Amino acid sequence: MKYKGEIHEATHEPLISKKLFDRVQEIMREKGKPQKVKKHNFDFLGLMKCPCSAAITAEKKIKPSGKEYIYYRCTKKKGPCQEKHFLRGEELYPQIKSFLQKVSLSSYDTEMVLAKLEKEESRAKEQAKTTAQDLKTEFAVNEQKLEKLLDVYLAETITAEEYTSRKEKLVKQKVGLKEQIEDFEQKGLSWLEPAREFVLSLNQAAKLLESENKTEMTTFLKNIGSNCILQNRQLIFSSRKPYDLAAERSEAASKSLRFSKMWT
Ligand SMILES: [Zn+2]
Repeated sequence: MKYKGEIHEATHEPLISKKLFDRVQEIMREKGKPQKVKKHNFDFLGLMKCPCSAAITAEKKIKPSGKEYIYYRCTKKKGPCQEKHFLRGEELYPQIKSFLQKVSLSSYDTEMVLAKLEKEESRAKEQAKTTAQDLKTEFAVNEQKLEKLLDVYLAETITAEEYTSRKEKLVKQKVGLKEQIEDFEQKGLSWLEPAREFVLSLNQAAKLLESENKTEMTTFLKNIGSNCILQNRQLIFSSRKPYDLAAERSEAASKSLRFSKMWT
């Protein structure tokens, strides 16, 4: 405390302790800080990338007229970027919908395809049974041949060399058959389940178009997409197999679409 140029020690008891004072200061500082702005949850973020490989971000702009616009643009976080364009939200959404349209299957057609798959499944199961039986029979015949060969050899009607060479042939065959049987039992109908899931997911695209749930659209597109580039105001979407086929045909309901082909 300075008084008339001299420093005097304050003798009165402080109203608050130094410790408490510091704490209060600290709290005031915290409160004075600008509040962390809650990031606006823009639709379709995390889905698109710029050709420069940086992520696409979005921001809201308010025009003097008071109308709000959302702009999508490159974050420019991966070095030099050639992309000069911004894309308005209302221009992006139709592009998203148009892609979903390409990979969508109506509920009616989904039912049809699922029914077909079910038929195909029972037919394939029947066939699998027969084929497995044939392979097993062949396997048994092979074993008999091996036994006979041994008899012939023991009766000394063939030489050791002949025996070894014939045996080798039969054993090779046996191993081959065993592999085929195992392969058949394990993979025989393994394409059916993924086919069913695929059809159902095409139907999900149709449902998303109806619900207009943008969050779920983003998740869906992330799941089926391998690459999504925003370039020159255009969304370039490459979908993963087999969705690329569905998108190419753009008419997923096509009756000639052979789902089994996509997995074999
Ligand atoms: Zn960029």
